[in-house]
Amino acid sequence: KKDDPNARGFGSRAVRRDGEQLTTWSYFRRILELTLDFKMTSASALVCLVATQSMQIWSPSVQGSIFDSIVKYMAHPERGNDAFERAMLVYLLVNALQGLFGGLKALAQDLVLRQLACSVRLKLFQSVVRMDISFFDTMHTGQLTSRLTNDASQMVQPLNTLMNDLIANIMLLVGGMCMAFYTSWKLSILALTVVPPITYIYRRYAEWGRKVNRSIYCAYGEANSTATEAIHNIRTVRGFSTEQFEAEKYGESISTALVHGVRNAYVGASVTAFSTYLNLGTAVVILWYGGSLVCSSMGKTMSIGSLITFQLYWNMMNNAFISLGNVFNDLIRSSSAAERVISLIDARPEVDPDEGEQLQRQDVQGHLRLQKVEFRYKTRPENLVLKGIDMDMAPGTTTALVGKSGGGKSTLVHLLMRFYEPTEGRISLDGKDMRSLSSRCVRSFCGFVAQDTQLFAKSIESNLAYGLNRDYSHEEVVAACRAANAHDFILETEEGYETRVGERGMLLSGGQRQRLAIARCFLRRPRLLFLDEATSALDSENESLVQEALDKLIAETGCTVVLIAHRLSTVINANQIAVVHKGAIFERGTHDELVTKGGVYAQLVQRQMSRDASTVMGD
Ligand code: ADP
Repeated sequence: KKDDPNARGFGSRAVRRDGEQLTTWSYFRRILELTLDFKMTSASALVCLVATQSMQIWSPSVQGSIFDSIVKYMAHPERGNDAFERAMLVYLLVNALQGLFGGLKALAQDLVLRQLACSVRLKLFQSVVRMDISFFDTMHTGQLTSRLTNDASQMVQPLNTLMNDLIANIMLLVGGMCMAFYTSWKLSILALTVVPPITYIYRRYAEWGRKVNRSIYCAYGEANSTATEAIHNIRTVRGFSTEQFEAEKYGESISTALVHGVRNAYVGASVTAFSTYLNLGTAVVILWYGGSLVCSSMGKTMSIGSLITFQLYWNMMNNAFISLGNVFNDLIRSSSAAERVISLIDARPEVDPDEGEQLQRQDVQGHLRLQKVEFRYKTRPENLVLKGIDMDMAPGTTTALVGKSGGGKSTLVHLLMRFYEPTEGRISLDGKDMRSLSSRCVRSFCGFVAQDTQLFAKSIESNLAYGLNRDYSHEEVVAACRAANAHDFILETEEGYETRVGERGMLLSGGQRQRLAIARCFLRRPRLLFLDEATSALDSENESLVQEALDKLIAETGCTVVLIAHRLSTVINANQIAVVHKGAIFERGTHDELVTKGGVYAQLVQRQMSRDASTVMGD
């Protein structure tokens, strides 16, 4: 289980929130439900399919009557060949209709599949981006993107197979069998003796194939994760010279997939060979017994035309049966992809962002309170990251969190932003339990500047307006950038506000990205502002520009600020400082109070002052 990447997130046999265990057939039902969005096209495809197959089933009996009319004409040429001409006319009509309905069916099916593929991708993406942040801790980006691309295109295949092959072949099989019995029940019973052994073999193969295919997909999922991770972290890979290690890891997953694939190919070929021999043997027996029936009765018990008709129906049933075997293979192959996609589409976040009370901006004071808050990450439940945190952050005040790395400061900020929900205890905003409020609404009042700002590969202006959800003017954006000390550097770029920032904002420096993040906050006018080491990765010039912008933002919006900082200069003016250590608040107070107390904070200050002094002396 440990090696199965699906075991960590949504298993191949996911259990939905309503507790229903999903089987292959319920996945098909879900795919069919999805096609209900395009009822007209789906119904047209089905009608044309039934019409095409009916013509195909009719055809052998018409062909048999053509042969019988030829034989009759040869025996009695004086009676003329009207019967032959009539039969030929019917044959022509059957073929013409088969072609027409076949074309219409292909068109309607293509339309359904294309519409379904788009709708599945959209639903999948909507579902993924709504998931709780903890979901992304457990899933690799590679796995998710693979689901959006490969799996999403694979999963519409069952429908294709269902319409083109399953329904079509079941109709041929059942229709062919009825017509074969109608033509000769003796030959039919003889021919059907091969069905049980072939069915048994196909069933066993299908069960086995399902398992193998799941292993192949898992192996490809692993390979994809390795590749995505290595490419994202290419600088680290290069820096540590682990190219060979990463390539080997990738190669291992790929070769696991290949080994399973090769095994599948061998078994598949053996099954095909065995069933082909059984069929060929049956064909010989049919001709031998049928031929002797025609000869012994001089065509009275069975005519030549009936024998030919029977042969054609037998071939029809046979081909339909073999195709159905392949259909089950295809269904099984694509159903693994469908399982993964549907389990993700059906997955619901634990906290629905829209559920809960919606607050109005003007009513939000920004009073944050934590009461006995405990927290564990789902990925590491044994690690109690926050232990009984009690804190009060009055509206418009600044709280600084300091302490050693790994103490739980970022986690605390993430809880306040509702990326995660506390395992125990309560966080309230203006006296209301956060859980009772819509998390989307709470986040719309939050501003966030992290150590490294994430941007999209779009223009500067689009990045600034990202998620703004209201009309804005260019002047407003410019004013925000001026306030955030970003306007000047933006004008220096080639296309100003239209400059594209590259993937994840890579074309900008760290300081520039931070100032854009602050400009975003100016546009959003947050009531709660969270700063996670917003200036710590910057050089001193950039740091002072960013700090100045932040001070302006806090003064203008009067928001409640929670900041994490290592530098003394950033925390010194905070209304309260909390030293977070091993998930608990070790000390709290103002800078002066804590320095006077002479505890951990005082030591931190002491250490930083001596470090700064040594830097100055070093200069
Ligand atoms: P700080 O911000 O003080 O450096 P963090 O809040 O980042 O501390 O981390 C606190 C603890 O939580 C650490 O032990 C860290 O390993 C763990 N942790 C942080 N993020 C996650 C995560 N997404 N999943 C599991 N554990 C995490």
